[in-house]
Amino acid sequence: MPADFTLPDDYLKSTPKKELTLPDGFNGVVLHCCCAPCSTAVLECLLFFGIKPVLFFYNPNIQPKAEYEKRREEWLHLANLLKLEAVNGDYDVREWLLKTKGLEHEPERGLRCDVCFTHRLTVTASFAKSRGITYFTTTLATSRWKNKAQVDRAGFKAQDCVKGTKYWDLDWRKNGLVSRRYELVKKIGFYNQLYCGCLFSKDEAQGYLKKDRDTTIRFKLGCVPDNLVTSSSKTDHLPQT
Ligand code: SF4
Repeated sequence: MPADFTLPDDYLKSTPKKELTLPDGFNGVVLHCCCAPCSTAVLECLLFFGIKPVLFFYNPNIQPKAEYEKRREEWLHLANLLKLEAVNGDYDVREWLLKTKGLEHEPERGLRCDVCFTHRLTVTASFAKSRGITYFTTTLATSRWKNKAQVDRAGFKAQDCVKGTKYWDLDWRKNGLVSRRYELVKKIGFYNQLYCGCLFSKDEAQGYLKKDRDTTIRFKLGCVPDNLVTSSSKTDHLPQT
């Protein structure tokens, strides 16, 4: 179902961040967006300071496909409301699964997330380069569930992989942005994400990993992923938005 939220009246009227210092040689920025809830306060801040980023949605980690589409539709609706260019990356789940193979049982914020962030940001850097835009940044660390240092490590690795690009490591949580993020999420009433994105994080959120590692998802490459569905949801997991 298409997203149909509206933006609150005070949106774009101000931003809690008092100033925004642009990095050297700034010629625009590609903003990797993981979802709409993580993007709203960052976009408000950028637009308030007159910067129109190119939005890039590259998140093949999100499964199952219905969840991916729900998050993407919200992001696209937000981009359309703001009249920003929004580029939809490939949903190449097979590639993501290959990259993270062997790391299925890693906890959230562990090695699997290192690989996941690095892959998504490397593709983002390549996209920025294809557009002649030097800088890229991401909404990945705007949630308090994420480790900014871990996201930054991935961003700098991506920068090293794609020569000519630069990772803009501005802290999109500081100077009141994280409070504004949660305020906007509440006001707008986004869909409540109950796990980070991959099926392993879904399982972890549901507490299955702790209870019985053997009950976690087993999959074979080649027979996943679009129709891969895990056990029905429980209600004891925590919202991520
Ligand atoms: S938990 Fe989140 S960041 Fe970590 S691998 Fe899964 S989708 Fe990626």
